Amino acid sequence: MSEHFPVGRELFDDVMVPNYAPSAVIPVRGQGSRVWDQQDREFIDFAGGIAVNCLGHCHPALVSALKEQGEKIWHLSNVMTNEPALRLAKKLVDNTFADKVYFSNSGAESNEAALKLARRWALDVHGEEKSQIIAFKQGFHGRTFFTVTVGGQAAYSDGFGPKPGAIDHAEYNNLDSLKALISDKTCAVMMEPLQGEGGIVSPTPEFVKGVRELCDQHNALLIFDEVQTGIGRLGSLYAYEELGVTPDILTSAKGLGGGFPIGAMLTTTDIAKHLKIGTHGSTYGGNPLACAVGEAVLDTVNKPEVFDAVKAKHQLYVDGLNAINEKYNVFTEVRGKGLLIGAVLNENYQGKAKDFLVAAMEEGVMTLVAGANIVRFAPSLVIPDEDIAEGLARFEKAVAKLAS
Ligand SMILES: *Cc1c(COP(=O)(O)O)cnc(C)c1O
Repeated sequence: MSEHFPVGRELFDDVMVPNYAPSAVIPVRGQGSRVWDQQDREFIDFAGGIAVNCLGHCHPALVSALKEQGEKIWHLSNVMTNEPALRLAKKLVDNTFADKVYFSNSGAESNEAALKLARRWALDVHGEEKSQIIAFKQGFHGRTFFTVTVGGQAAYSDGFGPKPGAIDHAEYNNLDSLKALISDKTCAVMMEPLQGEGGIVSPTPEFVKGVRELCDQHNALLIFDEVQTGIGRLGSLYAYEELGVTPDILTSAKGLGGGFPIGAMLTTTDIAKHLKIGTHGSTYGGNPLACAVGEAVLDTVNKPEVFDAVKAKHQLYVDGLNAINEKYNVFTEVRGKGLLIGAVLNENYQGKAKDFLVAAMEEGVMTLVAGANIVRFAPSLVIPDEDIAEGLARFEKAVAKLAS
């Protein structure tokens, strides 16, 4: 392959739609939790492609699954099924509450399928009246028009004309606010079992149990959006397992492909039957390449020793970040679960999370933000402890610069 023109950051502004503001750094290769840019500068990756690269970069099991499938068959469409899709679906069913799987290509599409299924189920079983969907403020469910409207940030859904209707928002961790909205006209409640984009907010156990009970009282489906929390991110295959509550529909994406685009919606036979032939679909959903990689991800991640290590690494981050805070006093709190961690900036640094991200990048460590006031960490689930230590040392240098 030859380029006859410079492929630098400037080209982005020339040829890309301006909906993103990418950093000046253009990574060209990665190995484990380390990444190198065009100038061969090395970075430690605490961002994980926004909680996607659950096994880091170029994990041998994923590379070999992709290569192997790449030499067999790439695509068939849903006019035929394929072996990798059947194998991955079987493994998802065997390891969760679900009996049935629908494959898509992203988180938003998995949620779109979940919401359409809930509406269709309600129409079939209860009638037209039962159409209300309740979600939570600050929630995030993707960027299709339905999912962004269900998401709890009007700033993301405004400005595109009339929105899909019968969608209301309650307050997360506030059962009374849900009680005030829910009724027998509610078809589904959609929630993240830990709000990611919305600020790394864990639900209280009473809240999650209460949401389940209210759904049961009003015959509403409970949809867990596990796009960010799933595939081991919080220290179990899916977060619902440790919350003691089982949803009716669960959506997965991000980590499921470990960097290859794939999404899935999981549900029970009884609910799934309402997506009859022809009611929904996707050209690429269940694509053999994506499912072969997804199967390798699941085989590699779904082990007690991986989940135990996630919990141990969580503690390394929390201890390391708290130690940095002792010295520089920048955070009010370090929170989150597993390897989805938020460091909340104190009153002296309001609105400055992006500054921390930029400074960290300059010191050679990639981080994320969750809103304007939280620095977010979502590294590989198998990041070596030495990389955590080295990345935190680099992060400390960035904090030292900003705090001085
Ligand atoms: C990232 C995310 C989505 C959207 O996923 P896409 O693959 O970008 O469509 C949906 N829900 C949650 C909780 C997410 O974190």
